[in-house]
Amino acid sequence: MIFHAIIVAGGSGSRSGGKKQWMLLGGRLVLDWSISAFEAAGAVQIVVVVPPEDMKQAQAAYGGRVWVVAGGAQRADSVVNGLKALMTDSDDIVLIHDAARPLLKPGHINALLSELETKPAAILALPMTDSLKRGDNNRIVEAPARDNLWRAQTPQAFRLHDILRAYERWPADQTPSDEAMVAAHSGINVTLVAGDMSLHKLTYPADFALLEALIMADKPMKQIRIGQGFDAHRWGEGQSVWLCGVEIVHDQTLIGHSDADAGLHALTDALLGAAGLGDIGDHFPPTDPQWKGVSSDRFLKHAVDLLRAKGGEIINVDVTLICERPKIKPHREAMRARIAEIIGVEVDRVSVKATTTEQMGFTGRGEGLAAQAVCSIEI
Ligand code: MG
Repeated sequence: MIFHAIIVAGGSGSRSGGKKQWMLLGGRLVLDWSISAFEAAGAVQIVVVVPPEDMKQAQAAYGGRVWVVAGGAQRADSVVNGLKALMTDSDDIVLIHDAARPLLKPGHINALLSELETKPAAILALPMTDSLKRGDNNRIVEAPARDNLWRAQTPQAFRLHDILRAYERWPADQTPSDEAMVAAHSGINVTLVAGDMSLHKLTYPADFALLEALIMADKPMKQIRIGQGFDAHRWGEGQSVWLCGVEIVHDQTLIGHSDADAGLHALTDALLGAAGLGDIGDHFPPTDPQWKGVSSDRFLKHAVDLLRAKGGEIINVDVTLICERPKIKPHREAMRARIAEIIGVEVDRVSVKATTTEQMGFTGRGEGLAAQAVCSIEI
C-alpha cells in the first residue's frame, strides 16, 4: 500500500531540557528512530519538519533519506508545511507522526494502514486506565467517567486531500491539539486503533529513562559463555619460534603443519568452543595442504569472524604457555598487543602468562611446549 510520512520534530524542548529530536536515545538520535521505522515499513516519501534554525543540521544528518521542511509558528503550521511538501497523488495515505514518540515500529504503521483500507482516517490511542479528576486549585471539582476516553498517540493516518481540506476549514484563531481534532472538525470519522505504551511521548527528562528501559527490555537476553583450549607441539631444529603471534629468536622451533603457534591454537579452540563452533581441526584440517606453513593469526581471525557472525563479543581471553625455555616474560606485552590486534579488543582484555613444570613431564624435559587458553564471550 502506497503511503507517505510526515514527522514533526518542531519542539523547542523547553520541558525536556533541550531539543528532544537531537538528543540521544538508545545510542541513536531521537529523530533517527522514527525515520528508520517509516523506512522499514516502506514509506514512499518521508518529510521531516524541523524548526527553521535546525534546517542545516537536519539536511546534514538526513538530507539523502528524507525531505527536510521548515516548520511554522504552531504545530499545525508545521504539519501543513509538511503536507504541502509531499509531491504525490492527493488520494494517497499520509501518516503524521511526532518525532517525540521515537519507539515507533512497523507494526504500528501497518495497523493504521490496514484500517485505512476501509476507513477515512485512523489514529493510535490508548484507553484511559487512571481515574480522571478535574481540579480547581488542587481541589477535585469533578470526576469525569473514563469510559470511552482515550489518550491520542501518533502516527495519525489520513488521505492527503482530506486532511489538507480539513486544515483549510479549521478556524485560524484556534489551536488544535492534534490532526484528529482538525479532521473531526471537518466531519471526517476518525477510527481509534489500539496504540502502545512504547509510543509514550518524550516530554520530561524522566521520559528518556523510561524509554531507555523499554529499549533494553526489547533486546534479546545475552548469555555469558566460557571456552577453553589446549595445544602442544614438539620442539625441533630451528632458529626462532612463533608464540602468541610473536616471533622469538630461539635455538629451536616448534614443529607443526602450520607455524605451530600453540598459544594461538589454544586460543582459537577456546573461542570456537565458547561459541559452539567445533574445533580448529574442523575448520583447518592438518591434511589440507592450503594450511601448510601458514601463520596462525589467520586461524584465530577466522574463529573471531565466525563468533561475531553469530552475534558474539569477546569479553576477555587468558593464555598460559607451559615451557622451560624460552623465557616468555620479555615478550609478554608484545604477545598481548598482537592478540588484542588480531581479535579486535582492548589490550586490557588480553592476558598472557607462562609457567614451567619444574622440569617434569614432556614440557619439563624440553620435548615440547604446551599452551592453555580460556575465554569468556557474550552471545
Ligand atoms: Mg596446534
